[in-house]
Amino acid sequence: MTSVTEIFDTMSYGPALESDTPAREWLARHSNAFGLFIDGQWSAAQSGETITSICPATGEVLATLTKGSNVDVDRAVQAARDALPRWSARTPHERAKVLYALARLIQKSSRVLAVLEALDNGKPLRETRDIDIPLAARHFYYHAGCAQLLPRLHPGAAPVGVVGQIIPWNFPLLMLAWKIAPAIACGNTVVLKPAEYTSLSALFFAELCEEAGVPPGVINIVTGAGETGQAIVDHPAIDKIAFTGSTEVGRSIRERTAGTGKALSLELGGKSPFIVLEDADLDGAVEGLVDAIWFNQGQVCCAGSRLLVEESVAETLMAKVKARLGHFRIGHPLDKTIDMGAIVDPVQHERIHAIIEDARREGAEIWTAPVNLPEQGCFCPPTIISGIGANSTAWCEEIFGPVLSVMTFRSVPEAVQLANNTRFGLAATIWSENINRALAVASDVKAGVVWVNTTNQFDAACPFGGYRESGFGREGGQVGLEEYLKLPGSWTNDAVCIAAPADAPCAPCDDIDRTAKHYIGGKQVRPDDGLTVPVVTFDGQPAGRVSHGSRKDIRDAVEAAVLATSWTKAPAHLRAQILFYLGENLSSRKAAFIDRLVTLTGTSETHARREVETSIERLFDYAGWADKFDGTVHQPPSKQLSLSVNEALGVLGIVCPDPLPLLTMVTQVAAAISMGNRCIVVPSARYPSLTADFYALLDTSDVPAGVVNIVTGDRDALARVLADHDGVDGLWFHGSAQASRDMEARSTSNLKRTWVNHGQGRDWFASQPFGRDEFLRNATEVKTIWLPYGE
Ligand code: NAP
Ligand code: MG
Repeated sequence: MTSVTEIFDTMSYGPALESDTPAREWLARHSNAFGLFIDGQWSAAQSGETITSICPATGEVLATLTKGSNVDVDRAVQAARDALPRWSARTPHERAKVLYALARLIQKSSRVLAVLEALDNGKPLRETRDIDIPLAARHFYYHAGCAQLLPRLHPGAAPVGVVGQIIPWNFPLLMLAWKIAPAIACGNTVVLKPAEYTSLSALFFAELCEEAGVPPGVINIVTGAGETGQAIVDHPAIDKIAFTGSTEVGRSIRERTAGTGKALSLELGGKSPFIVLEDADLDGAVEGLVDAIWFNQGQVCCAGSRLLVEESVAETLMAKVKARLGHFRIGHPLDKTIDMGAIVDPVQHERIHAIIEDARREGAEIWTAPVNLPEQGCFCPPTIISGIGANSTAWCEEIFGPVLSVMTFRSVPEAVQLANNTRFGLAATIWSENINRALAVASDVKAGVVWVNTTNQFDAACPFGGYRESGFGREGGQVGLEEYLKLPGSWTNDAVCIAAPADAPCAPCDDIDRTAKHYIGGKQVRPDDGLTVPVVTFDGQPAGRVSHGSRKDIRDAVEAAVLATSWTKAPAHLRAQILFYLGENLSSRKAAFIDRLVTLTGTSETHARREVETSIERLFDYAGWADKFDGTVHQPPSKQLSLSVNEALGVLGIVCPDPLPLLTMVTQVAAAISMGNRCIVVPSARYPSLTADFYALLDTSDVPAGVVNIVTGDRDALARVLADHDGVDGLWFHGSAQASRDMEARSTSNLKRTWVNHGQGRDWFASQPFGRDEFLRNATEVKTIWLPYGE
């Protein structure tokens, strides 16, 4: 008989299959066929079209599902709309009880859900049982608390309305929980579409909704394919789209929702770095790496798919990784002894294979783990690609499979540079025994989540989401909750922002003594095309000339802003001092600014005084916020701390409205730079000559070169250049509804964050409440840094 010691050496033990009887009984109760869950009832699709749900480990058909059509989506949206008034009017406690019931029911059904998920997706039961399902329950618990405390956590906030939610197949129930729990906690109603490959756990959840007493229409589950998702995106009666999936589909959703006024959050793909410094505990790093890229067969948006290892330890680390993978076990998802299960579908398997073969053709070295694959089913061995260039597909593109790409580095700055050389920015892992070095890298890496000496950690209290083409918006924590709330003091139709007529009256202009140049890189700069344009006062009198900005001027301004990185790294204390100083200098020129506003805009002196005085106050407000809007610490259920830090977005385009030309410019610039952003400002189209007064102020207030750049000219044309520019990380735009639509549609090139007014106005005199300042939220990205403690 084999001894236990021998088994430890050979790791050769038999399978330990979990029983699938309860899951199969549940399928049988439904005759292995499911309709749509709309308005609390099961119904057939209008078209009668079906899709099948398959177990990728065996190819067996598990169930027949309904393919929702436009008409079905319409029914679901109508049900959600009808349910909205009553659900949002329920007391916080009543809503909290429903979320609590859902959390308890998920816990009570955890084994059957874990089996169902493993069968449908192909992922190991070990993961569904220990990670997917407990985290889904935890999400409902956390948000039961959010529902209970909502008026105290977010006073005055209202639900967004009907939310369309579209999720991928890699963590089916968990992604559903991430979407539905915060939405209904805030009083929204939802229409959710699970992924075609993995709808079964969502259908099981629909039954739990009936049991938990979720009122009909609050949660609607519409199964189907990509077209079903598109019908949700396009539906006019939906107020917000929350999407998790590929960057490609995310981009198309940004384009399709542009100008509709639908709120949007996108959780997209990634190509996350896993950085091993030479002082790392290498055995720990190997285990981390296994979790980073071979968890869930590598089908993880935040998978550590790019290994960056310091050259001095690369050989040792790779030998350890390969030895570890030599013991890997791949098999049936219900076998509790396996490391990896099946790839979700043959289509995905082919995609992975094609990228590996492309890399091989490019001359890369491909290493495949010497593991036994089951004879049948959709399996792929752990694979390591090395010897590739920084622009090869295998290094740059998301493979979404068990494939690791490897590169070495010689210094920490080089590691950071390689890590950031990607269009994504979802996650990063850093392995080092030196916490100072690790945290320095964590702060330099552009990623929404950073794990130090741990990886792939998630919790409902800790925000998750990406920078750049990994999308925008966060899931989890209070920032995630805010995605489902309308906060007070936002845009309103009551104060319509009047866009300047394209052909503003142009009075004969003899008086050209006052020509405002652009302000780029801390200098007054002549326009590239040498042109200036006359500007007139409110009543058509000449008011000097301003420079005519072109594409080249915007490019120069972006370049200056990109280079001004020291502002972003500067301590908040320094930024605060400069903002106070700007306030002081504006105060000393108060009379001149009041005069200028009266002459240009025709406003009364009292009104102009109020505008200037509020502008001074605003500079003091943001000087104050600079070192106070600074993140939170979370204590997730594991032995870890997670720090959510508010980081600057980077380079911001700010396109100002016409009313209150000073206050609107000062408010936005102050908020943006208080958080460490550098900006390119296109001032009010109607009163751009205020620019010269403003940059004189910047010049005398120690604002470093490149932090604020100002380009005047055709406002919407310049805004379009900013929207198209890949070096711009965010765009705040004020103009007509049509121009707002245009900006959102154009921003898809690098999926920059946009904040547009859709032709509406706001009360610019109102000050913003603690922690919920819309300007500061839009000026920052939340980075969540995870730090384990203990041995
Ligand atoms: P996908 O093809 O983008 O699909 C995601 C969802 O969108 C599915 O439900 C899909 O339906 C639906 N869909 C497809 N085309 C659509 C369209 N034109 N309009 C509206 N909906 C449409 O992504 P996937 O292959 O399922 O998932 C993998 C991707 O998700 C990876 O890129 C991964 O990185 C990303 N992901 C991101 C996160 C995150 O939090 N950042 C988390 C998990 C996954 P069907 O599946 O039925 O076609
Ligand atoms: Mg399936």
